[in-house]
Amino acid sequence: MSFVNGLKCRECGREYPIEPIYVCEFCFGPLEVVYDYSNIKKSLTRDKIQSRPQNLWRYRELLPLEKEVADAFHTGFTPLIKTDNLAKFLGIKELYIKDDTVVYPTLSFKDRVVAVALAKAKEFNFDTVACASTGNLAHSVSAHGAKAGFKRFIFIPASLEQSKIVASLVYEPNLIAVDGNYDEVNRLCSEVANKYRWAFVNINIRPFYAEGSKTQGHEIVEQLGWRTPDNVVVPCASGSLLTKIWKSFREMEKVGLIEGVKTKVFAAQATGCSPIVTAIKQKIDVIKPVKPDTVAKSLAIGNPADGFYAVQVVNESGGFGEDVSDDEIIDSMKLLARTEGIFAETAGGVTLAAAIKLIKQGYIKKESLTVLCITGNGLKTQEALDGCTVKPHYIKPNLAAFEETLKKIKLKDR
Ligand SMILES: *Cc1c(COP(=O)(O)O)cnc(C)c1O
Repeated sequence: MSFVNGLKCRECGREYPIEPIYVCEFCFGPLEVVYDYSNIKKSLTRDKIQSRPQNLWRYRELLPLEKEVADAFHTGFTPLIKTDNLAKFLGIKELYIKDDTVVYPTLSFKDRVVAVALAKAKEFNFDTVACASTGNLAHSVSAHGAKAGFKRFIFIPASLEQSKIVASLVYEPNLIAVDGNYDEVNRLCSEVANKYRWAFVNINIRPFYAEGSKTQGHEIVEQLGWRTPDNVVVPCASGSLLTKIWKSFREMEKVGLIEGVKTKVFAAQATGCSPIVTAIKQKIDVIKPVKPDTVAKSLAIGNPADGFYAVQVVNESGGFGEDVSDDEIIDSMKLLARTEGIFAETAGGVTLAAAIKLIKQGYIKKESLTVLCITGNGLKTQEALDGCTVKPHYIKPNLAAFEETLKKIKLKDR
């Protein structure tokens, strides 16, 4: 039932069979999955998709698997929320949140990529899965790997928030906490991947893993009633998600599910780690690596693997990029919670804060339809809000004490 043709180098176009490989032997370009679009077009319809269970496997023809996945988690199909309060606050007509704070089972969009990566690792007959992670990927590989019965090696920077470490440890993987930043962890993992026959989801099976990100785009299109938004704002770490949302729109057009994609794609990064946005603003396509320093740890990749392609997509689509300070990130996390009741992690603060700037500058028009990709849950990064939230009212357990306090609470909040 597979519609996969093979792998193809993004640079020189050389073709490869489906194997756990990720770079071209000749030019070292990244490999990408290519599909048999004309056959998908003959077979896949809106009705067919809509008749299937509400999870990411409903788009299986556009995913790189040979067999139907029967025993995985019901990952995906998160809500697309039309905001009223937030849209009004920002003075924009139609503003939607793609709410991946509630992806099953580990509450970040990484469950999408890992679901696909581990299904593929099974097809390749690996018994061990591994990853280099800034946190969310660690949770996801730990959890999906536990259910699928893989041995798991998880590499993280030792400086990660304590709550993020616990949320991996509970699944009992082999957790390797490395004294170094993410880029150093990643370099180490490349060496490990050369030596051991493990499925490193974001290294040797990265071409398949990355395809899972497309499902966020598929869902946005279906949930908007089979059309693409005018604008989409995407947080960038490696830049992969941004490129795959674009790929998902173009593919859906190619196989006849939609027509006339005119979406502008916008990149959002923290100022303390903004190599992709910097290249966009400077109108160059060379990514200058940086040393990350930001509260948005899940986006703290200083040397982004897909940065070059992310810049290309932004330019090709007529979008732009913005970077935001740590204070702006925290303010936006609170704004989203206060207006829409959604508690996003720091990456969500990055996306919203960048969108606010893009609206102010006129890159996002007030009359247009915009989707913000909110990619992870705030319960995972509570430390980021230490000292930044409103305070509880401490009282003795009696009515008089409560009423004394009530007097101090502003009229509008009572
Ligand atoms: C990994 C991640 C991203 C983006 O990742 P890319 O490497 O750019 O695909 C965005 N948000 C969160 C919360 C993440 O964990």
